[in-house]
Amino acid sequence: HPKPQDGPTRPSGVDRILAIGSGKGGVGKSTVSANLAVALARAGRKVGLLDADIYGPSQPRMMGASGRPASPDGKTIIPLKAHGVTLMSIGFMIEEGKAVVWRGPMLMGALQQMLGQVEWGELDVLIVDLPPGTGDVQLTLCTKSQLTGAIVVSTPQDVALIDARKALDMFKTLKTPVLGLIENMSMFVCPDCGAQHAIFGQGGVAAEAEALGVPLLGALPIDLETRLSGDSGMPVALGGGAMSEAYARIAERLIK
Ligand code: ADP
Repeated sequence: HPKPQDGPTRPSGVDRILAIGSGKGGVGKSTVSANLAVALARAGRKVGLLDADIYGPSQPRMMGASGRPASPDGKTIIPLKAHGVTLMSIGFMIEEGKAVVWRGPMLMGALQQMLGQVEWGELDVLIVDLPPGTGDVQLTLCTKSQLTGAIVVSTPQDVALIDARKALDMFKTLKTPVLGLIENMSMFVCPDCGAQHAIFGQGGVAAEAEALGVPLLGALPIDLETRLSGDSGMPVALGGGAMSEAYARIAERLIK
């Protein structure tokens, strides 16, 4: 039986693991993770979503799933299902509103459980919503779980980009392929007059992608529907609007 210090490994039925990272919190990493998972499921893929954002698990709310995963034999954990996505979150294992104050070994134990003991079944893609930054969780996942690749989400703002660069540098150091960057909150289009406002700046993420020689997978605007649908557990990618199409295009690039 694997011990926590062995670290998590890739579950046997899982074809590829894509980690979604960011330098800073609040740039939309969890929103992008949820919507990409939904978009991939809508494209007919078998998709799992692992919310490894230990310090701020958002997926139970964003995916509209709550409850405690069952563990009939006390060993294996049955994940939840939401919007066609197999879902596991550290948030299912703690009470909402309670802080996680864990030391490294406990964190690794929880990660180990979520990868190794959860019955993920056969999956084409497992999306991992990483915590922001460059800590223990990223280090362990990148070195032990054979990630297929990582995607970094950033806003075009300088302070976000500075930290995104650190995340990119970490993936490079850990030899995890970076599949691309996603610019989030790239533009605000006024719903009344159609004027475009670059609230967080313009072109920063594209320039970064160019400098690194990795693709810019998409640029997603600041969008009220995205925020509302995230809060209500119905990711915007479920709908038929422009945002849903934008996510479908990114998903297509990831699986082609
Ligand atoms: P992170 O995972 O990087 O901390 P979240 O995905 O939790 O960020 O997003 C932070 C907040 O911003 C959430 O309330 C989310 O609904 C909102 N948000 C994310 N992306 C967008 C967007 N493109 N337009 C509007 N709101 C967004």
